[in-house]
Amino acid sequence: ETEASAEQEASSATAGWWARARRVLPGGVSSPVRSHQAVGGTPVVIERGEGPYVVDVDGRRWLDLVQSYGAVLLGHAHPAVTAALAEAAAKGTTFGATTPGEVQLAEAICARVPGVEQVRLVSSGTEATMSALRLARAVTGRDRVVKFDGCYHGHADALLAGGGSGVATLGLPGSAGVPRAAVAETLVVPYNQVPDLDEQVACVIVEPVAANMGLVPPEPGFLAGLREACDRVGALLVFDEVISGFRLGPGGATASAGVRPDLWCFGKVIGGGLPIGAFAGSRELMGSVAPSGPVYQAGTLSGNPLATAAGLAVLRAVQPADYEALSRRVAALAGELTEVFAAAGVAAQVPVVGPLLSVFFTEQPVRDGAGARAASARRYRRFFHEMARRGVLLPPSPFETWFPGMAHDDAVLGQVLEAVQAAAAVVAE
Ligand code: PLP
Repeated sequence: ETEASAEQEASSATAGWWARARRVLPGGVSSPVRSHQAVGGTPVVIERGEGPYVVDVDGRRWLDLVQSYGAVLLGHAHPAVTAALAEAAAKGTTFGATTPGEVQLAEAICARVPGVEQVRLVSSGTEATMSALRLARAVTGRDRVVKFDGCYHGHADALLAGGGSGVATLGLPGSAGVPRAAVAETLVVPYNQVPDLDEQVACVIVEPVAANMGLVPPEPGFLAGLREACDRVGALLVFDEVISGFRLGPGGATASAGVRPDLWCFGKVIGGGLPIGAFAGSRELMGSVAPSGPVYQAGTLSGNPLATAAGLAVLRAVQPADYEALSRRVAALAGELTEVFAAAGVAAQVPVVGPLLSVFFTEQPVRDGAGARAASARRYRRFFHEMARRGVLLPPSPFETWFPGMAHDDAVLGQVLEAVQAAAAVVAE
């Protein structure tokens, strides 16, 4: 292993917790992407976070570009969020009845995303996509689902095929334990190509900005082409905005792309770092969801008062100008990184969409899952550890996006740039 991970092994608290974790958690983690299977070495064990930083159990402070894979927008332990949580927790954590918080969060989502009229809150992005799929199948009376290679929509049986994120990191085609019948109606096609659809298709589900195979922007015309293709055969278009929603801007990819889907899936930012998800659509379509309609969907903790309080605190704290400023900072950083890699003689692509960016080590711009897999994973591995040596935590896989947020100001992004300058020189060797 690299020196950085060797240093980590030697640090006692991290090594101790990691050994205990491995005994009682499969692979030492509660979700596969957190393991270092793709990059090697021992993952950090985090004690606390503060803004753009996390502090590990050995007291080391890291500049964090993971930000809980996009669940955290304002930075860790933001006072607006911790205050909202303390206030909500003091009133009770869950009731199994409607609360003002869930009404207000649903109102906030409807107000920001053009076309959304009703929202069903759930507890994860996986539940959101799974339920949106059920709804699309019910209202169309069709079974087939079209998804794109490299897009990740959570771990529901029907949607894991051709998944990005951890599925790509571990090189799995889907998962063991998924019955053939569960994916028999799932068609996986390349991203950035409008597929030919027929009258058997219930829905096309897409990440309007693909962020689970590294970052892959939609090419001009792709999303509009999907809209037309769906309309032609009476299929529903589902935008999985679990990452892009409330991160690209208040209206997510829907607003920035100018294309409206029929159904939306949300998660991450709308829970302010607590477990949440949501699916949404017109009042007419959502009218098919139980108890209004025949599509059953339920959850003991759905609309949880803590999650809705934290999510509302985040949505209320950010203004459109904040998103614009962050996107400008990140665009500047991406431009600088491109120059740094070129100057070091390292073939690299630095795609950027709003405040999202990632790095692919390849000469070719990446437009789909095959392109993402063709980039050098070995070089990313080396780069990851060189960044870690310099105190910067990247996602431990080339198939994830970096999530600088509102707490990553010019000074913080300057630290990222300095680390990349030094790391690029090493990976060029
Ligand atoms: N959809 C997208 C686009 C995601 O990025 C994710 C998670 O990373 C999911 C769905 C699943 O969300 P969760 O992990 O909350 O189940």
